[in-house]
Parts: sequence; structure tokens; C-alpha cells
Amino acid sequence: MAEDIFGDLYGYAFDGETCALTKVFCEGGERVACEPGDVVEFLRKRVFSDSPSAFDSRLAHEALSAGLRPDNGEHLAFALPLIAGGSPSVENLTVEPVELHLGVLAQLSLTNSATPDGTPITAVVANEGQTVLMSAGDCPVCADSGAVLLVLVHRDDRPIFVCPLCECSWDRPPRGVDEIVGIADRAPGGVRFPTSREIRDLREQHKGLTEVERSDWEGLLSEHVRVR
Ligand SMILES: [Zn+2]
Repeated sequence: MAEDIFGDLYGYAFDGETCALTKVFCEGGERVACEPGDVVEFLRKRVFSDSPSAFDSRLAHEALSAGLRPDNGEHLAFALPLIAGGSPSVENLTVEPVELHLGVLAQLSLTNSATPDGTPITAVVANEGQTVLMSAGDCPVCADSGAVLLVLVHRDDRPIFVCPLCECSWDRPPRGVDEIVGIADRAPGGVRFPTSREIRDLREQHKGLTEVERSDWEGLLSEHVRVR
């Protein structure tokens, strides 16, 4: 059994008397068997091809250049899964722990197991409750035209503070301009908005957070935000 960087699996499928090298796509669970004697062709077409759901070397290189580097317990995952209409592009890729990635895909499969094959999935709804956007005050770089917003790093749920205007980010509410770290550098793989439940705990740690209108800032942050 082996696994590639996108979480697709390779192994042997036992089918009656025969046993064949098989690829299982983590998105949708499709199985593709390697015909006996055809290992090279199988690898060329199904493993090292550029199609979006196979091991895609071009996309993997783009992801590595963008700072998305999964370690042993992580995958390159499509934030909006391909089976839910997500695009096979680096903008839709993020780094996720294996359990989260496969867990979400499994939930999608279970939820939709009764629908006929090929039925389009039109929306993925996070079930963690309403998300909210909180501000820790004005941005020290942009002054009163920017706001320091509390978001969570997608891959490990760590809270960070970002300004959508100048794209600076901090580990805690900034007191001045003492460091310049871009959002993409601090959160490779993107950020997400916290849920109201998560905010309750964070408000204890960071006094003085105020809720802001999401629509005012959402658009400016869209390139960094992953859907779940
Ligand atoms: Zn700013």
C-alpha cells in the first residue's frame, strides 16, 4: 500500500483468483486497476499524468513553490473537493492533516451515498456554526483605513491577526510596526474565519476584540481564505 501527496492510494486489489495493482482516488473512491503486464503504462497514465485527480506533478510543483509543503501526516488537499465542484488549481489547494482531509471526503461520500453516481454536489456546508469576523483595532501600517482582523490558520487552527489592506500579519494584536510578515508566509495553505464558538475562547485571551461587518473585509481576504 502506498499513498501520494494528494492522498490517493495505491495497492493490490484481490478480485477472486486474481490480484491487480490498483489506484484508489481519495475523492469519490473510484478504483482503477492496472491490467496485468501493464505496470509502466499504468504509472505513466494514472500516476504521473497531469490530470487533476491523479498525481499531478505540475500542480504539486506549483504547490511547493507556493509554500504548501505537507509533511508525513499531511496531504495536499483541495479545500473545496473536486467532487464538490472545486477547481484543480493551486488556489484551491491547502495542506491538511490526513485525518481531516480523508474525514471530510468520507463524510461527503456518506452524506451522498444514496444519490445516483454523477449527481452534482452543489454546496459544501461547514457544520461548525456561524463564522464571525473580529477586529483588534486599527492596523499599525495602514492606520485607520485598515483593521487588524482575527483569523485562524487553516492547517492548524492557530489564531493570527491580519490586515487585509497591507497583508501584514502578526501572532498577537500588534502594538506597532515591529515586524513585517505577509499573510501567505505566516499561513501557507490559507486561513479561515473563526466560528462563534471558537471566538468565545479567543475573546478571553485577547481583550478588546470587536465584531466587524464581514462583507467589508471578506472580499479583500478572499485569496487567503479556504472554505473549511
Ligand atoms: Zn494594514
